[in-house]
Amino acid sequence: MSLLPVDQALKIITESVTLLPVEKIHLAEAHGRVSAADHSAKLNQPPFNASAMDGYAVCAADLEKIPAHLEVIGEAPAGKLYEGTVAPGTAVRIFTGGALPDGADSVVIQENTERPDDTTVIILKQPEYRQNIRKKGNDFLEGQTLLSAGQTLNARHIGMLAAANIAMITVYKKPRVALLSTGDELRAVGEDIGPGQIVNSNALLLANLIRENGGEVQDLGVARDNEISLREKVSAIKDVDLLLTIGGASVGDHDIVQDILVEMGLDVAFWKVAMRPGKPLIFGKFSPDSFDMPMFGLPGNPASAYVCAINFLLPALHKMQGRKDIGLPVSQAILDHDLPENGPRQHYMRAHYTENAEGLKIVRTTPSQDSAKLSTLAASNCLLLRPPMAAAAPEGHRCPILILKP
Ligand code: AMP
Ligand code: MG
Repeated sequence: MSLLPVDQALKIITESVTLLPVEKIHLAEAHGRVSAADHSAKLNQPPFNASAMDGYAVCAADLEKIPAHLEVIGEAPAGKLYEGTVAPGTAVRIFTGGALPDGADSVVIQENTERPDDTTVIILKQPEYRQNIRKKGNDFLEGQTLLSAGQTLNARHIGMLAAANIAMITVYKKPRVALLSTGDELRAVGEDIGPGQIVNSNALLLANLIRENGGEVQDLGVARDNEISLREKVSAIKDVDLLLTIGGASVGDHDIVQDILVEMGLDVAFWKVAMRPGKPLIFGKFSPDSFDMPMFGLPGNPASAYVCAINFLLPALHKMQGRKDIGLPVSQAILDHDLPENGPRQHYMRAHYTENAEGLKIVRTTPSQDSAKLSTLAASNCLLLRPPMAAAAPEGHRCPILILKP
């Protein structure tokens, strides 16, 4: 197969992955989940006219002459109603969040009063009509749509929904991703590393990227570079929505992932994308028995695996969860140095940007783009995108960048 352009690969992926079913969960569990329905307020916020300040609930019309002496007839702290009525000539001591008593229309802040004795308050400054009052429903009204479908819930959304007393929320299910590392050389982090061996860093790198993007990970461990081991691991897959393999995707004698998976039910949609790093990416539908799921076969070098995951796996995960915003945000940055012309593959260069005093992003690529290097990957906060055959770009040139999660 020839190299597939990045945008065509992405189109194939996003057209073939489907939305997951929905479920109802408690709001306390909803952070990072994607709303699958519109959700509307179950009450007005605030639910009553509330004082915004500590002071006195009064009738503004009572205070045409200042200073004014009023009789203090009771208290309205937060959480406790004053049951009576504020009649002319009277005031109720009120605190922030307290419900405005009947009869009162304004609140005088306590800094503008004097309290000569327990039953008298002297108002020193005239309040404006309705001053310092949060009117019932001024934040949102009962029945008002607060959240639409497709929204990924952050802490701020959850606070708002809590205030609206929405305890249960309808979300898309989390994509369950089976993660299978492959390689005779791989050991788990913390194990003794023998001659010729390396730590399986990709499994943790990708598992965390998947979780950051709303997925759940079923780590199948490491398949060794032989048919028996690979078949055994793949056969253990159960109750997942997507299969992700790492390594063994290229053309070496030990790169057996594609051949064995095809024998087990993989229908390859494409292999090899015109990109750098990450060329040997495999994508297809894996249908071993009665179910089928999207399958990504990532190359093993960490930066290659990561770049493929950022560009192709994340959009798939986002789409499965019904997210409105798919993939990473693209921004523009000004090059801090010259770049040579690019070859025929789209280049995702590890890079770091900062913002200058005018708020412009200034970007510098890392000195090495070796796809095996994790230190440069960890030091990057963006990927600078060089389209196929892009001309040499001088310092000061504007380039697209994909901003990585901090
Ligand atoms: P492969 O794609 O299997 O040919 O692997 C390419 C390179 O990536 C080799 O140097 C592997 O040792 C390395 N590699 C493969 N899988 C992993 C992994 N899970 N973690 C870290 N490095 C890996
Ligand atoms: Mg390998």
